[in-house]
Amino acid sequence: MPNNYKNPNIRPTVIKRLELYKDRWTSYGATAGILGISEKLSPKDLRRFEIFRDYDDEFLEEISADVSVAKWKKHAILFEEGTYVDMAFFIVQGAVEVYLHKSNGAAPFRRANVRAEEAGKTVLQTQLEKQNKNSETIIFLSAMDFNLQAGGVLELGPGEIFGEIGAMNGWPQSATARAATDCVLAQIRVPALRRMKRKSPALKQRLDKIYRERSLLAQLRTTPLLRPCDEAFLEALAKKVELVSCEPNEIIAQEGGPVEAFYLVRSGFVKLSQKMGEGELVVSYLSKGMTLGEAELLVEGVRGWNCTAASVEFTDLAKIGREDFLILTQKYSSIGKQLWETAVARLKQAGFSKKNISSSQFMQTALEKGLVQGHSILVIDLNVCTRCDECVRGCADTHEGRPRFVREGDKHENLLITKACYHCHDPVCLVGCPTGAIRRAEVGDVVEIADALCIGCQACANNCPYDAIVMHETGETWAENMIPELLRGKPRLLASKCDLCYKTNHGPACVNNCPHGCAIRIGSVEEFQRLAMRR
Ligand code: SF4
Ligand code: SF4
Ligand code: SF4
Repeated sequence: MPNNYKNPNIRPTVIKRLELYKDRWTSYGATAGILGISEKLSPKDLRRFEIFRDYDDEFLEEISADVSVAKWKKHAILFEEGTYVDMAFFIVQGAVEVYLHKSNGAAPFRRANVRAEEAGKTVLQTQLEKQNKNSETIIFLSAMDFNLQAGGVLELGPGEIFGEIGAMNGWPQSATARAATDCVLAQIRVPALRRMKRKSPALKQRLDKIYRERSLLAQLRTTPLLRPCDEAFLEALAKKVELVSCEPNEIIAQEGGPVEAFYLVRSGFVKLSQKMGEGELVVSYLSKGMTLGEAELLVEGVRGWNCTAASVEFTDLAKIGREDFLILTQKYSSIGKQLWETAVARLKQAGFSKKNISSSQFMQTALEKGLVQGHSILVIDLNVCTRCDECVRGCADTHEGRPRFVREGDKHENLLITKACYHCHDPVCLVGCPTGAIRRAEVGDVVEIADALCIGCQACANNCPYDAIVMHETGETWAENMIPELLRGKPRLLASKCDLCYKTNHGPACVNNCPHGCAIRIGSVEEFQRLAMRR
């Protein structure tokens, strides 16, 4: 253990610092389970743990704010099935067990505001059903972090990492994790983990290996497209699948280039575009669970990539080589048929986009304005809106008189895309928050800010691409024992954004308060498109 692993009861400023860290690192709930937590760790401290040994001092100094070491007591719940956790755990000492709620009958440990799972179903099953219900055409690559069978418990020990698959991909955790013994865990928030993975090929390989061993087979098994496959085939396929991680704006396939593989999108978004004169025409986009390459590999006469495919943000793909893909479709004719239909639809869509520039412009808007990102975007139908501002007033009334959005934003046809937080699939606002104040709440997909932890640094407001965070003055000044010192005596700013009214029992006040029914929350580009078309 590092030297500065202490009991949080020392002297005022240190207490403040420790409280900040304690809150930060227990922000996802189970405060009762933590026996102690580290202060900010120096590079030397970090390097005592095997996972940080590859990195130099400068890098470790940069990520140290996003790392803590905590001692958890036996049987403490680290996270629950169905909740979002924006960090990965590295076991330093002790053991952790991972299980499905329903499968072993463990007493559900629920915090306030967390929806109870539907009777008789695990949270994961409920999520899977919800996903499948919401998208008839999407082939869902499920969010399984662990290859757990019903009744199974997986025990993890020192040197093992867990939670990273859900955290990195913005997926809810598919299982519950609890301390099997008193244990010491290094906790690494997503921004640091992403940087560590990018900097160290060895860590990337290690995380890919974990993913392959722990969850890839389970994912393939529960992917509707692959349902007809027998177990032996899936096991063989899992060994051959290549895991590809892309930075934003990376080219995955170049229009006209040779087609060597078929891709399944694991997380993130992929833009499909075609050349048009000097520019490009956006044809479509792919999100989690969608596929790329079926048209090129199945339809006769299609030579080379039909479109250029580029990642919109951090994107993960599963790549299946041409030969394996052809074996798959020949062995299982129903899969071939399904992919054939997808291929034909994609080719038709490309043709349609070429003839209908407005459709392409819409796709471009959807990508540029982040409509693909949002779990919940507030749009207002301007054809119906009377500008009465009741939506804003409803928001203010729910949040101590201070509204969390203004009735302004980009317009697409009759729809105003407000600057209320989208509750993104990949909330980049979390990156760089020095205190962990901005985080995933434990409810659905909500991104919230904990006022008590916010030091008003504006990093989140600067990072949010959709201007959904505003800084406001509180009229207070920071205390003389404030850390960081540079804030002492300065005016206290707070970051503020939509929290989806998740602490209330009435749902989004903006929507409910609109007397004309024209403030609407949408959760997908398709919903947005339907709204735009209904005028
Ligand atoms: S604050 Fe911005 S980046 Fe963060 S979730 Fe909301 S819209 Fe997305
Ligand atoms: S302003 Fe934003 S980034 Fe800075 S501490 Fe507050 S929530 Fe975190
Ligand atoms: S959901 Fe609630 S917090 Fe968000 S904009 Fe609407 S009223 Fe405001």
